[in-house]
Amino acid sequence: MYVCENCGKKIEKIDKFITCPYCGHKIISKERPPVMKRVKAE
Ligand SMILES: [Zn+2]
Repeated sequence: MYVCENCGKKIEKIDKFITCPYCGHKIISKERPPVMKRVKAE
């Protein structure tokens, strides 16, 4: 799953040309799955 950096819509399928089908934006980032790891940062 990917997310358009411009309109924030989710895009499921991406081929070689990574463009947002909604707004045509070319910067698409991978959606980060929620990480359930607990890290102590103290
Ligand atoms: Zn978009």
